[in-house]
Amino acid sequence: MPNRITVTVVGGGIIGCAVAYELGRRGADVCVLERRDVGQGATQASAGILAPFIEADHAGPLRQLGSRSLELYSRFVSDVVADSGAVVPYERCGTLEAAMDASSLARLERAARALSETGLECRLLNAAEALIQEPHLGPSVIGALHVPSHGFVAASALTTALREAAMRHGVSFLAPCAVTRLTSTGSRMSAETNQGPRHSDVVVLAAGSWTEGLEFGQKPSLPVRPVRGQLLQLRWPTGSRLKQVVWSTGCYVVPWPDGTTLVGATVEDVGFDEGATVSGVMSLLDAAREVLPATEHAGFEAVRVGLRPGTADDLPVIGTRRSAPRLVYATGHYRNGVLLAPVTAQLVGDLVLEAAPGPLLEGVSPDRFASAPDARAGETAAAGWAGSDPARIRVARQEKKR
Ligand SMILES: Cc1cc2nc3c(=O)[nH]c(=O)nc-3n(C[C@H](O)[C@H](O)[C@H](O)COP(=O)(O)OP(=O)(O)OC[C@H]3O[C@@H](n4cnc5c(N)ncnc54)[C@H](O)[C@@H]3O)c2cc1C
Repeated sequence: MPNRITVTVVGGGIIGCAVAYELGRRGADVCVLERRDVGQGATQASAGILAPFIEADHAGPLRQLGSRSLELYSRFVSDVVADSGAVVPYERCGTLEAAMDASSLARLERAARALSETGLECRLLNAAEALIQEPHLGPSVIGALHVPSHGFVAASALTTALREAAMRHGVSFLAPCAVTRLTSTGSRMSAETNQGPRHSDVVVLAAGSWTEGLEFGQKPSLPVRPVRGQLLQLRWPTGSRLKQVVWSTGCYVVPWPDGTTLVGATVEDVGFDEGATVSGVMSLLDAAREVLPATEHAGFEAVRVGLRPGTADDLPVIGTRRSAPRLVYATGHYRNGVLLAPVTAQLVGDLVLEAAPGPLLEGVSPDRFASAPDARAGETAAAGWAGSDPARIRVARQEKKR
């Protein structure tokens, strides 16, 4: 096919695989470089919850991206299933966000009012109504917010299916293949790897928590950093599974059709340490037992650990810098990479193939981290990849309690 755009995707997590699938099915010549195996980064640990109206508790870019992605989800999953032939567990069973003290209940009341004003179907329940909605709730629950449109998807199964579907659209995967450096050579990009260089028109950087070392001197480097999450895999004790995802201030609990129940997740600032800890496991078990006492009798199957790619403002980084138009960022998805995979893929596809940066990109541009002199340098640096040298942006975080 003449003039096919060539794209190298760095990273084979759910974001890299979703982007590769989207670009491949829209006709690009795509190669994914992954240093481990597909889906073995943060993605393998994910609970797969699709809950923008909990994660983004106010109107803003995350709410906009999350609700758009949720709208895309059913079609996205059915396309991937059709193109791959794989089975991907996916349910829109709703979430029940439980309050166990007066201030949490007041917060849920405010959230219910605000969400209802936007037209979203949701219901604030008192303790008795909440117990009917979810009979496993413990006596400390005094109220709950039910959002029926939320759900979950099996993130690992979806990522494997995305790889298969992408390959059927001609995308190639090199794994294990570690990218050591990205450079630009005129109108081309080069990825240096432990298996030699690879040249393409565009590079999509989807390396999750490991983004920072790869930016070939772009300044300031993006403040993407690892935020460890531990998640428990239990076997639910009784025959009656939970009816929906249950969320409390200390944990969330996801019921799988096969009786597996996920309890997540810790939020820890410990660098690149991917190990599980006793305190992490205990804190999750305590929180789960409080909201769902039957957890006491669950079987213990596994602990999963992943490094979420966090950013200073908890928003993903999608798009290009003015100083590097052939380097497309798709990273920093923090707690919502599974939810945001469809919308990220669509936005990157439109940007790379149609040169059409959608309005949703405005709030998540990599240039939001640049200082004013840096941004000005970028405007005149399209050919030279120039940049000034401002102090590195400090990563300051305000973790939500949940
Ligand atoms: C415990 C836990 C629970 C979560 N629950 C949810 C949830 O319920 N819902 C939700 O939406 N999100 C959830 N998340 C967040 C979600 O998992 C992440 O946002 C998402 O997986 C990020 O995907 P990614 O592809 O950007 O990163 P990753 O999955 O980390 O993939 C990045 C890939 O890049 C590769 N890579 C890095 N450097 C290089 C290099 N130099 N060369 C080649 N390859 C490289 C890595 O090996 C890795 O495979 C959770 C995360 C955790 C840890």
